[in-house]
Amino acid sequence: MSEEKLKILFLSPEVVPFAKTGGLADVAGSLPGALKRMGIDIRSVLPFYRTVSEGDFEIRPLPDELEVPLGTELLKAKVLETRTQDDVPFYLIDREDLYDRRNLYGNPTGDYYDNLERFVFFAHAALRLAENLRFKPDVVHCHDWQTGLVPALLKGPYRNNPNLSGTSSVFTIHNIGYQGIFPEEKLVITGLPRDEFFRIDGLEFWGNISLLKAGIVYSDAVTTVSLKYAQEIQTPEYGMGMEGILQARRTFLHGILNGVDYGLWDPRHDAHIPASYSPQKMAGKSRCKEALLKEMGLDESLKSRPLLGVISRLDSQKGFDLLVELLEDILALDVGLVVLGSGDETIQKAIEEAAERHPGRVGLFIGFNEPLAHRIMAGADIFLIPSRYEPCGLTQMYALRYGTVPVVRATGGLEDTIVQFDPKTNKGNGFKFGPFNSKAFLNAIKKAIDCFRVPETWKRLMLNGMKADFSWDRSARQYIELYRSIIKGSTNNIKVS
Ligand code: ADP
Repeated sequence: MSEEKLKILFLSPEVVPFAKTGGLADVAGSLPGALKRMGIDIRSVLPFYRTVSEGDFEIRPLPDELEVPLGTELLKAKVLETRTQDDVPFYLIDREDLYDRRNLYGNPTGDYYDNLERFVFFAHAALRLAENLRFKPDVVHCHDWQTGLVPALLKGPYRNNPNLSGTSSVFTIHNIGYQGIFPEEKLVITGLPRDEFFRIDGLEFWGNISLLKAGIVYSDAVTTVSLKYAQEIQTPEYGMGMEGILQARRTFLHGILNGVDYGLWDPRHDAHIPASYSPQKMAGKSRCKEALLKEMGLDESLKSRPLLGVISRLDSQKGFDLLVELLEDILALDVGLVVLGSGDETIQKAIEEAAERHPGRVGLFIGFNEPLAHRIMAGADIFLIPSRYEPCGLTQMYALRYGTVPVVRATGGLEDTIVQFDPKTNKGNGFKFGPFNSKAFLNAIKKAIDCFRVPETWKRLMLNGMKADFSWDRSARQYIELYRSIIKGSTNNIKVS
């Protein structure tokens, strides 16, 4: 089969620019374009969320409605079509009662009560849509628990479907912490026969059902987003209860690092930042820093002192409880701090209080703000990511491109992308610490600050990062190799990593 003919159905619960809560949206927004440029016939499917209906997108309805099973019912759904800048067709499953809501997955108080129904419906709808479009995918590429049912459906109710009987599936884990767990009695909603699927070697997980586990067990290949995380999730420390099944599936498990969309994240042409810059012309970076200090109400004198930046969900995974422990020690180092994020209220409050104690030194924006994220990337000097675990992490790769030096915990994709800087040899692109404790984190921050105070060294370090290339091409090639190795009838059973 030639590369041009490889047909991929790409299913993600969030995609830039339509709907985003985290890095998965960035990946699902840029990987399909990279695959398309390599000659793959790729079609993406996404729920028609309110962010899409209220956004400024050119959307057209498809003439035919879908009939989608949900438990014992057969429900209708409309489908809309749009195209991204990369000319990838996106199909939006329109079902007002399920997707027309303020948020993607829940309110600040908790997940939506019907998330199982919402994503079971999405899974069936995507497979029915392929049939309606007469699109016979070689591979369905599914992302995270919200699409984890699809590999099980392909091995169960759809295995004799003429449109899908030749279809294989890849399941990508972007975060093992989100497992799509629902009570056993809801199994009937999924459309899977109980005897065959509700088993310890099926989607049963401690008496419940787990859609993440369904994806792991029933797909033809499992991937996760860095080599290191692929190893980590096979251990009790990082596997969150899935380590056993991942060990059992280890010959099918691959680590493929996420790429960066430099069309969106590059200070040479970033429309969100006040001045552009590049390794050859760095003056714009100081202008971005000055503008950021002003925007966040920080002291002008920080211009010549290190400005530390954070852009993150503030939850336990990301490790900012360590930052809270260290706020006074860090501020004693004569630095500024800018934080963009939301989540854990104790963390938010501690940073707010530090801002009151140190006027002009700490800037905090609580919420989700894409343009501000770009301005912090450009305006900060040092970028902090003390994650407990980090499947891949995108912000450290963005920070590198913006000459903002990452200080990270050596875990998952952070371990794979950040190379410890050595001021003697001038090699490396950031600073890492191993043990998850505040002393180790503070030491790494101090090392970064020491280098900042030697301008020649700092410049070398910034340039090392800015020159690194994490564009999608390499990873997209690895995915294509993987797709080819699992398509039905293939004898090409290679390991991509
Ligand atoms: P995760 O997906 O675990 O949240 P990643 O590093 O893979 O972590 O991706 C995070 C993405 O979300 C990045 O694009 C980052 O810029 C963005 N982001 C995180 N928090 C915010 C926020 N408060 N405002 C704007 N963008 C944010």
